[in-house]
Amino acid sequence: MDKVDVIIVGGGLAGLSCAYELADSGMTVIVLERGDFSGSKNVTGGRIYLSPLRNYLPDLWKEAPLERHVTKEFITLLGQNNSTTFEFYSDRFNREPYPSYTILRAKFDRWLADLVSEKGVFVIPQKNVNDLIKEGKRVIGIKAEDEEIGADCVVAADGILSFIAEKAGLRKPFQPQHFALGFKEVIALDPKTIEDRFRLGEKEGAAQLFVGTLTKGIMGGGFLYTNQESLSLGIVVGIHSLNQREPREEVYKFLDEFKERPEIKNLIRGGEVVEYSAHLISEGGIHIKPKVYGDGILVTGDAAGLGLNMLVTARGMEYAVASGVLAGRTIKMAKEKNDFSASTLAHYEKLLNESFIIKEMDNFKNSLSILENKRLFSKYPQEISNLFEKVMRVDENPKEGLYKTIWEGLKKDFLNLQTFKDWLQFRKM
Ligand SMILES: Cc1cc2nc3c(=O)[nH]c(=O)nc-3n(C[C@H](O)[C@H](O)[C@H](O)COP(=O)(O)OP(=O)(O)OC[C@H]3O[C@@H](n4cnc5c(N)ncnc54)[C@H](O)[C@@H]3O)c2cc1C
Repeated sequence: MDKVDVIIVGGGLAGLSCAYELADSGMTVIVLERGDFSGSKNVTGGRIYLSPLRNYLPDLWKEAPLERHVTKEFITLLGQNNSTTFEFYSDRFNREPYPSYTILRAKFDRWLADLVSEKGVFVIPQKNVNDLIKEGKRVIGIKAEDEEIGADCVVAADGILSFIAEKAGLRKPFQPQHFALGFKEVIALDPKTIEDRFRLGEKEGAAQLFVGTLTKGIMGGGFLYTNQESLSLGIVVGIHSLNQREPREEVYKFLDEFKERPEIKNLIRGGEVVEYSAHLISEGGIHIKPKVYGDGILVTGDAAGLGLNMLVTARGMEYAVASGVLAGRTIKMAKEKNDFSASTLAHYEKLLNESFIIKEMDNFKNSLSILENKRLFSKYPQEISNLFEKVMRVDENPKEGLYKTIWEGLKKDFLNLQTFKDWLQFRKM
């Protein structure tokens, strides 16, 4: 059996970041990616926050094909026939170094794979790894179709369903409540139109989240990100919540209906759909984090359950990059000791625990139970929009005083025990 130092399974952000970290180490490293090229199977919303990552890969971002730096945030509560949007702008978001950018994975991952290859790592596309080779409990290599390759260390960077981590005995099969399903279109529009429609300066970007009737009471929401020459528009729905619904819904249609809403229709007018994708997204947070190391193996990114729904934003890409780098650092340390046993590779878990990743996931450990509250996706967006409508509307009758309108609306829909209980639950976030 041919043998290398490190095999990385999966050429997404986690796998490629690990490869980047290992590129100058003198070790022979290969990345096996089942897609036609890195980026071809990778889906994100997507916005990446660079502030937590600059210390991890300081040299990477200057030349990286990032889209727009996000200066504006919109949160839209969708009712049946009305909606309320909160808009937020900050000079701080518009000052270098910019905290967050929109990103297209088909471009970014491909670029990163080329960069890593230039540094001497072998990135091999169209290679589906279907099994691990073990000696007792110890992982000593992989099987990819009819080929077998040995390695001192295998890195599972194979994404959210990670069969590699499962085969290594590190994680149990996940439950439906731990996943949501995302649908996304990339809609091409010229930069000037994007800037005019979102009132942005050149290269500035916007991020918009939607919650309410678009998911028909199912846990989830919508997102819209401005790229340089396109919009990323999508919907995410919780699988458990979806399974409970009778009659069953054909959820892919939600996106078509969403596009017909006036709030969206006018933003995408004249655009051409150039990419369509669907992918699972992790909702389980810290509760589904598997064991991330074993004899001869480390688990990174989505494969390690490192993803978080923070309600106002989704996180996963920074965790993939940072965990990939930390896995790379651990492998370098193990190489120095010439020991890839679980007790040495456990250092990776220590690094993860000390990093922003596990601290954040711990801070948001209650987000899953909050997300299970259906009123968040139906009652509140609708009633807040109804209240605003009452405040704004002038009809044939004399208009009531503003205070009275607001107070009556609050009394009717919000001042009750249920809302109070929801508030107590929300405080845990
Ligand atoms: C709809 C949606 C919206 C999201 N929005 C955001 C957002 O705005 N911000 C954010 O930070 N995160 C977001 N996320 C989460 C984020 O995209 C993920 O956390 C991130 O992509 C994880 O990167 P990864 O490298 O771990 O996994 P992936 O990008 O999934 O990469 C895994 C790679 O492994 C390959 N692979 C799998 N199995 C094998 C095998 N057996 N052999 C060889 N190769 C294999 C796959 O082809 C793939 O290329 C979103 C996710 C979705 C689905």
